[in-house]
Amino acid sequence: MKSYKFIVNPVAGAGKAYSLLPRLKEIMKESGIDYDIYETREPRDAIESARTAAKEGYDIVVAVGGDGTVNEVLNGIVGTKATLAVIHGGKGNDFATAVNMPTEINPACKALIDANIRSIDLGKVMDRYFINSVGIGFDAAVAERVNRGVKPFKGVSAYIYAVLEMLISYQTTDMEVDLGDGAFACHPTLVAVGIGQAYGGGMRILPDAIQDDGLFDVCILDKMKKPFMLYHFPKVFKGKLKHLEESNMFRAREIKIKLNEARPMHLEGEILRGDYMHFTIEEKAMPVIFGPG
Ligand SMILES: [Mg+2]
Repeated sequence: MKSYKFIVNPVAGAGKAYSLLPRLKEIMKESGIDYDIYETREPRDAIESARTAAKEGYDIVVAVGGDGTVNEVLNGIVGTKATLAVIHGGKGNDFATAVNMPTEINPACKALIDANIRSIDLGKVMDRYFINSVGIGFDAAVAERVNRGVKPFKGVSAYIYAVLEMLISYQTTDMEVDLGDGAFACHPTLVAVGIGQAYGGGMRILPDAIQDDGLFDVCILDKMKKPFMLYHFPKVFKGKLKHLEESNMFRAREIKIKLNEARPMHLEGEILRGDYMHFTIEEKAMPVIFGPG
């Protein structure tokens, strides 16, 4: 029988992850499963605790939180034999959605115990692994602005405030992009790179992405006038942004992006900054528990 370590981010989803714990413990006890729970204390704590769990021989390390918690657990267990799993518990749950995990705790636990495991691709950029999607450009600038804090706003209103501020102040920069067959210059509003289809809580920027084909899906959105950005933005939730003439969709095994100046990139809850981003992919490198369907 498999053993489970739950890495719980008690502040994820404004306490949503934490509120799942009583029911989670009940189900695991009733099932007679070997499990343990660890509550994280600070950012990046999940990386170390997940690594320790894998070294202790836990078969499955479960992130209970949002995409940021998943990313930390992933970076902790990479290179070990542990399998990654997730329970919806954050504000953004794009990875949990991508692996068909039920949103309710009872069926989610059943999926964990059934342990339908498939290996999917693993991306790496700037010494950080990712398993879903990252973005450079306008959306990263918005995420960075929200992270800096926009008091007194919180949650969705903080996000809206940051979008409006960036619509006024954001400037695109020159980039040189190499998708494996020579570099080309561009001046995009944003670049998205992904193994999965969505980021930012349901923004399906890469609606055709396949998680285990050994290739990144890439969207380069050409520079767009700001009123058009606002008008077209809702289309991303339906996966329809790709139909715009400004959208250029690609697939690539390796990507090099040189920017004129250091800019933010949002990577599954984390903001990184750089003027050179080199993406590599490891095909089917991470075993993951999938939900039904
Ligand atoms: Mg792919």
